[in-house]
Amino acid sequence: VAGPAVLVSEAARESPDKLALVESGGRSLTWAELDDEVGRVATGLVAAGIVAGYRVVVITGNRLEFVTTYLGVLRAQAVAVPLNPGSSAREVARVIADCGARMVVADGDTVTTVRAAATLIDDALAGGDSTLAHDVPAEVLARMVKPRVVVVGTTLQPGERSYDHLRADTARPLPPLRDGERIAALLYTSGTTGLPRGAMLSHRALAANIEQVAAVDPPMIHGDDVVLGVLPLFHVYGLNAVLGTVLRSRAKLVLADRFDPQGTLDLIDDEACSVVPVAPAVFAHWREVDLAGRLGPVRLVLSGSAPVSAEVVEEFVERTGVPVHQGYGLTEAAPVVTSTLCSPAAPAGSVGAPLGGIDLRLVDETGVAVPRDSGDPGEIQIRGANLFSGYWPDGADGPDADGWWSTGDVAFIVGEGGDAHDRARGDVFLVDRVKELVIVSGFNVYPVEVERVVAEVAGVADVAVIGVPDDATGEAVVAYVVADAAGAADPQALEAGVRTACELGLARFKVPSRVEVVEHLPHGVTGKVQKGRLRGLERRRAL
Ligand code: ATP
Repeated sequence: VAGPAVLVSEAARESPDKLALVESGGRSLTWAELDDEVGRVATGLVAAGIVAGYRVVVITGNRLEFVTTYLGVLRAQAVAVPLNPGSSAREVARVIADCGARMVVADGDTVTTVRAAATLIDDALAGGDSTLAHDVPAEVLARMVKPRVVVVGTTLQPGERSYDHLRADTARPLPPLRDGERIAALLYTSGTTGLPRGAMLSHRALAANIEQVAAVDPPMIHGDDVVLGVLPLFHVYGLNAVLGTVLRSRAKLVLADRFDPQGTLDLIDDEACSVVPVAPAVFAHWREVDLAGRLGPVRLVLSGSAPVSAEVVEEFVERTGVPVHQGYGLTEAAPVVTSTLCSPAAPAGSVGAPLGGIDLRLVDETGVAVPRDSGDPGEIQIRGANLFSGYWPDGADGPDADGWWSTGDVAFIVGEGGDAHDRARGDVFLVDRVKELVIVSGFNVYPVEVERVVAEVAGVADVAVIGVPDDATGEAVVAYVVADAAGAADPQALEAGVRTACELGLARFKVPSRVEVVEHLPHGVTGKVQKGRLRGLERRRAL
């Protein structure tokens, strides 16, 4: 199986001296150096007792050691569990306990959190009441072991090991991967719709999506490209769609730890980045800056993972002349499912057509297929070798016996999109998530419909709509609104403005029964509002 760790060796054989990774600070690795380093980390992991199947949490910023550790874990046939460096100690402890991690690799920015998580684990292992005992079931706690902490580049505390000490002096040959079904990565979903769950991605799934993306014509990334690596590598989009595709195409990846509207533009310029994968929030940040002449080297901007308005994208394209391609994907699909690159004439607002090798269909509430050309919405189901193996630990809720998996996303399909080779695939338009659907007196309300109306009201900077339990109607619509400077000056007028706009623009059952003006909304890494948190707020309010 040509999984990510194997791709590195192939690249090292063919282009040993070509640069593979560049860090914004100036450090870099050629393909030969990267392959050697991955081999040394893998050898060191095995020597440290990390045998096949053991889970290793990797919690660092976008740096060389993230890549070498991730790939080293894969080469050792252990399971990489990348985590958001912004996680709280409690979140880290919960994941360590849930997956039974044997090792945690941290850096200077995350080690304090990891130490605090280790204390929570010690408390729980000591027995009795502990924070962790509230977060994970007793049987999970009973299995938990205390993981080893490995630290990249900072002073160690007793019991910790340094990354430099972990990696072996030389890379020893390790047994090749024979079984592509082995789990390579355990990716915890960010919890937009509930508690994070670990999606199990096999070497086969990661490799399949890398190949599906590589087969897109025109190519997303080719060997001469310099790719901006500002998307977080712990998230599947950065991890497999960006890093995985770079390994396959032997492009150069420029690692940057965080997005900064000006700083990132300077980096694009300095490194002559030709492909810029971003999350939609970036367009809003770049709205505020002068982009004239700033994106010279860029041939393509890739956007995905969260909704973006067609107007915002069109405005960006008009200002810069750089084409933007949309993609739709999810963690469980490793991740890319559709791309506008697969359908050059995809209308604005569409996420394009499915990649070759991925079947996509829509089903209604009863699971019956929605006819392709009806234009009716349905839940997206997909089938393909890129799909995950279910959720940790037992593979629950994975693909069914026929290989289909329900994404939880509602969409409709228009026309006969697809490229010259395959005209019958249709362009996908996302509507909303099934779980976000609010049912008021039996009528369906998709929050996005309401959000679109509210977002247009003067004084509104941000909005999220959720459903809350209601005695009379089953559920009721509630709008959380963030005011801009003008709106904040008169919150009552803002609320009235939202109400009037909804009454004019929406059917009665869709009009929010309550409007909450708040300071800010809880956005996740890809920019999506974590509505689970808003629902948590509502539950606490109802107590
Ligand atoms: P959770 O699964 O817990 O909600 P999450 O949203 O972070 O966490 P991801 O796998 O990162 O999990 O996100 C996948 C979801 O993101 C998709 O199901 C879809 O709803 C949304 N999404 C992905 N791409 C797009 C896109 N181009 N436009 C709109 N929404 C998108």
